[in-house]
Amino acid sequence: MKRREFLTKAGASSVIAASGLGLSANNASAASGKKYKWKMVTTWPKNFPGLGTGANMVAKMITEMSGGRIEVKVYGAKQLVGPFEVFNAVSSGDVQMGHGAAYYWKNKSTAAQFFSAVPFGLNAQEMNGWLYYGGGLKLWKEIYADFNLIPAAAGNTGVQMGGWFNKEIKSIKDLKGLKMRIPGLGGEVLKRAGGTPVSLPGGEIYTSLQSGAIDATEWVGPYNDLAFGFYKVAKYYYYPGWHEPGTTLEALVNKKAFESLPKDLQKIVECACAYANQDMLAEYTARNNAALHTLVNKHKVNLKSYPSDVLTKIKKISDEVVSEVANKDAMGKKVYASFKKFRDQAQAWHNISELAYYKAR
Ligand code: CA
Repeated sequence: MKRREFLTKAGASSVIAASGLGLSANNASAASGKKYKWKMVTTWPKNFPGLGTGANMVAKMITEMSGGRIEVKVYGAKQLVGPFEVFNAVSSGDVQMGHGAAYYWKNKSTAAQFFSAVPFGLNAQEMNGWLYYGGGLKLWKEIYADFNLIPAAAGNTGVQMGGWFNKEIKSIKDLKGLKMRIPGLGGEVLKRAGGTPVSLPGGEIYTSLQSGAIDATEWVGPYNDLAFGFYKVAKYYYYPGWHEPGTTLEALVNKKAFESLPKDLQKIVECACAYANQDMLAEYTARNNAALHTLVNKHKVNLKSYPSDVLTKIKKISDEVVSEVANKDAMGKKVYASFKKFRDQAQAWHNISELAYYKAR
């Protein structure tokens, strides 16, 4: 008994000692009194549901967890820089942070697209598995290091919708000549199928569809698509979003700004992104359900599944396009090899877990 008592006491005092040490280390950096005022630019309209509010969440968590030692102010698209200038603004150090999606930066690095969405690629659960435990994040950091940037997963939309069309898609031929807003690798696939992909920031899609500058668009899913009112300018709403099966949103941090932070604040920035990554997926899961109900029942949207023959053909084209794009440079090859290996393993496991369960439910 005495020995146990002694051990317990010894254990307890070492815990106290350890937390004491932790406290003084924290005090050391807090005592320096240094406060950081960061700016975050985003590719989204300010406060845009899900995406813009996801960026706000990263900023809020950093500010709150650090007790105000880092204050992050969020700027919507065009408030400081245009939506597609976010990468350069953070890379150059003009601002400390950004929030966007990696496929917008395919002109900087083709391989970047793998860290947002790959047609017929990983879903949200699998993306997180690959990034955090499958070597994905390490590769992503390697690519962005060349641009003086540190990336972090900071949100996920889950499986997106296939898009809004003004004609039925009965065969792959119906994609021919179609001018559609669709970013990243999905756009490359549409091009191969004879269509014309257009990259437009969120804020410009509705008017482009309304004026006929584009024939079709994809955006995110019911929650966001309802907010943009696409049901007023397009007849058919197709699923599933084969081109974006679980899109990861990113936080970009200027490397120099990050490294100038004390260690505890660096950890807070990382944890805030990880929190926002999970939080956005939870929000989309909850809100998409309700928004789909409104679209179908209140706005009488014509909800349609892509015919399975169309999906089979698009998948074949996707596999070719993704492999070709990835094999354009050494980094693309490296990322694709890692991605593909993870996808094959994830599919084998998810076929007998998630998929088997969905079917059984
Ligand atoms: Ca999308």
